Amino acid sequence: MGSQVVTRPVVRSFKVAYVAEAARHVRGGGHAVVWESDSRARLVLPKPNDADPGDLAQWSILDLGKSRYRTIKEGPLTGFATIMVPRDCHEIVRRRAERDSILEGPTHGVALDCLECGACCRDNQVQLFDDDVARFKEGGRADLAKPPFARRTDGKLVLVLAKSKDCQHLASDNKCGIYAIRPDACSQFPMASECCLYAREEELGVTDGLAAADA
Ligand code: SF4
Ligand code: SF4
Repeated sequence: MGSQVVTRPVVRSFKVAYVAEAARHVRGGGHAVVWESDSRARLVLPKPNDADPGDLAQWSILDLGKSRYRTIKEGPLTGFATIMVPRDCHEIVRRRAERDSILEGPTHGVALDCLECGACCRDNQVQLFDDDVARFKEGGRADLAKPPFARRTDGKLVLVLAKSKDCQHLASDNKCGIYAIRPDACSQFPMASECCLYAREEELGVTDGLAAADA
């Protein structure tokens, strides 16, 4: 596959008095955390493209535990999507803005090579759905939906990790052993999304932004 440069939104923090600057940032493709007070923040982003499963704005919303957004109808932020940032996610969005403080402009091109990385195949719960089970069956691997490869937990069917917490299907060369029939959660995992960047930080200690520039 090789390295791919993916353009991702840069996250910036703005006090509500600087909402016009926040609007400029989002218009350029960035994501803005607008602090209405010390304890109230909203995330403002370009309106997600619902037809694109890899849309990074949509994934930023999902990553904060939300699935719905509101379209702003008045003021300088009109037309953008927004969600209130849950209180328990304030530190997360602060950290993202800090990470990106070294980056200029509203977007940033990050070079990623999934085969060199494999971070999201480690210590990650992959849920299986009916389509995945059917794909396994058609591919002659119905066993992948059963122990020791999969199990039910809290009503969900999930892949069982190895003792090392790596996915059992991850080979030593970072290739997926069931690539052609891998679960949708894997094939749709969005490169350069916040969950991708987080997995890389946690599993590889690689930070895109401030720490990377310091390294
Ligand atoms: S964490 Fe991101 S770059 Fe790494 S393998 Fe997953 S999608 Fe690819
Ligand atoms: S099934 Fe393949 S792509 Fe999915 S987590 Fe496991 S190794 Fe990674």
